[in-house]
Amino acid sequence: MTDAPVTIEGLACPVPLTHGEQIVMGHGSGGKMTHDLIRKTFLPCFDNPALRAGDDAGVVRIDEKTRLAISTDMHTVQPLFFPGGDIGKLAVCGTVNDVAMVGARPLYLSAAFILEEGLEMDVLGKVVASMSETARTAGVQIVAGDTKVVQRGKADGLYINTTGIGILMPGIEVSGANACPGDVVIVSGSLGEHGMAVLAARGQLGLETDIQSDVAALNHVIAEVLERCPNVHVLRDPTRGGLGTTLNEIARQSQVNITLQEDQIPVRPEVEAACAILGFDPLYIANEGKFIAILPPGDAEIVLDILHKHALGRQAVVIGEVHADPPGRVLMKTSYGSTRIVEMLAGEILPRIC
Ligand code: MG
Repeated sequence: MTDAPVTIEGLACPVPLTHGEQIVMGHGSGGKMTHDLIRKTFLPCFDNPALRAGDDAGVVRIDEKTRLAISTDMHTVQPLFFPGGDIGKLAVCGTVNDVAMVGARPLYLSAAFILEEGLEMDVLGKVVASMSETARTAGVQIVAGDTKVVQRGKADGLYINTTGIGILMPGIEVSGANACPGDVVIVSGSLGEHGMAVLAARGQLGLETDIQSDVAALNHVIAEVLERCPNVHVLRDPTRGGLGTTLNEIARQSQVNITLQEDQIPVRPEVEAACAILGFDPLYIANEGKFIAILPPGDAEIVLDILHKHALGRQAVVIGEVHADPPGRVLMKTSYGSTRIVEMLAGEILPRIC
């Protein structure tokens, strides 16, 4: 590698030259390779405080009173329809949730479509109807959009990009950088259902299962939590890369240790069984309707009480706590009493699940 900065065809480029390195599927995993790609290629070129914060949405201040949260997401899931959802529902929920995860109230979305020549119009109609219904339920409006068509064979039916904008209430300061020693870690429900539901829809599980994707808009339940407990430090949805990767991101952002209790981590028996057969760890399987909340221990009871009364938080549970040392690390106290390191997802185990 050459040291930055370099010049490529007259453009000053802060990205180090890699001499032929190419994009591989792992760059889309949401795990370590995605993080390295962002850190080495995108961040040096686009660098600014909102992006550097490394949260699910960028937060920008417009004036004394107004802060906006902006997030964007591409959706390439295959197949387009799976148990519990479809690419349209995923595209709305994914962006609504990322805006909500910085403590903002999502208001408006844009939706952009890459359509493949030959796509059945009825398939598109069904996806768009699903987006409409999901947006209505989430209380957001889709106010802008774009459509491009590519030739047959150049896309898998359709891809969707959604961008969302939301507003932050005064006093709300939620970021992956705000976890403090002594805080507790709550997860809103059981893990791994989305990833395994998509695999089942592809016929790759090799067994009959009724696992449904958990895809859901979390903004209303998050709003309830923040109304009662504005002092929540961190919110994040463990999507691609799963809980293991998400907690590693937070441990690095906050420079803290997060220690989990293995026997507290909620996984449905059918997900556990499917993971065992395929050799997957549910810690790294994607969720699309769950979130992590990290907060002072005094608020844990209130948040659990809110979640237990909500359809999207019935199985919410404390799964760990935050310590000062070792900073940037996630540890797991196992059911056998030993402690192991939980790393960020390396490589790609389930491509194209969102
Ligand atoms: Mg997210």
